[in-house]
Amino acid sequence: MNIGLIDVDGHNFTNFALMRVSAYHKARGDQVEWATPFNQYDKVLASKVFTFTPDFNYLTLQADIIEKGGTGYNIASRLSDDVENSLLMDYSIYPQYPFSIQFFSRGCIRKCPFCLVREKEGYIRAVEPVELNPKGEWIEVLDNNFFANPEWQDAINYLQKKGQMVNLHGVDVRIMNEEQAFYLSKLKLKRRIHIAWDLPEIDLTEKLREVTKYIKPRNLSCYILVGFNSTVEQDMYRLNRLKELGISPFVQPYRDFNNDRKPTLYEKDIAQWANKHQIFKTCDFADFSPRKGFKCNYYLKQNRDEEDTTYLHTSCPDGRMCSTEKI
Ligand code: SF4
Repeated sequence: MNIGLIDVDGHNFTNFALMRVSAYHKARGDQVEWATPFNQYDKVLASKVFTFTPDFNYLTLQADIIEKGGTGYNIASRLSDDVENSLLMDYSIYPQYPFSIQFFSRGCIRKCPFCLVREKEGYIRAVEPVELNPKGEWIEVLDNNFFANPEWQDAINYLQKKGQMVNLHGVDVRIMNEEQAFYLSKLKLKRRIHIAWDLPEIDLTEKLREVTKYIKPRNLSCYILVGFNSTVEQDMYRLNRLKELGISPFVQPYRDFNNDRKPTLYEKDIAQWANKHQIFKTCDFADFSPRKGFKCNYYLKQNRDEEDTTYLHTSCPDGRMCSTEKI
């Protein structure tokens, strides 16, 4: 068979599903290449991860069958069982990326209200590691919740045995214990370990303090979700605690599934302040000036004014300005 592949999102990162289908078809003796309008294909396999990526113009292709998959098309889409059960990976389709991709688990134990992982992948389960890139210099570990995997110790053993540098994406500090933090500190890290403090109603300060006993704060990067039911005060609380602990934040404005929601100016400004580490370390948000003549103190003041208004209306139903103190 002549198979054409399409990475609809562009080639900005490796597409795990396409690498698997490519390896599977090549192992069967099929001809596989990136689809072009100039060739005729028995089957074109297209993957789109992000809903916001513009769609591909399939009218340009000559193909008997076109199969589209990935969250960007359909959250319920799945690879065939044959591909899913294969551990083969074709890294040659992305020669520009000198790393391996690995998953030790799929799914998650949590159901965070802004996240699709549970709906898409279900409850956490261990999976067998796929082939590594023979030319790979490090391993990108893409588990959603690395330590929620009941077989996390096997994953650590695997990574230690490979001896390559590791970029670890999904570490849930809420469940991390001393033993796990110890093992993490022994891995050769390519970049900072990615953790998250997305839900403002949970105070992770003490947990993060505990984790930094084992892992140097400079080796941690903490995602902070803004624009999803959090107030300016809650955003500042989380960011100021990270600053005190010496952990770098990465502020991520909330994007809904269909990408209809656009980040507000406040969300863009706080991301600009927090994600530039030198600015974050040396300048308070109040003093940060993203545009000429504008200081972010405006947001803090507005937040205080809103709180005062709330007190006026809630504590003084008859409208008397009796108190602006917190009650
Ligand atoms: S812990 Fe992470 S992967 Fe799991 S549901 Fe929450 S955001 Fe999604």
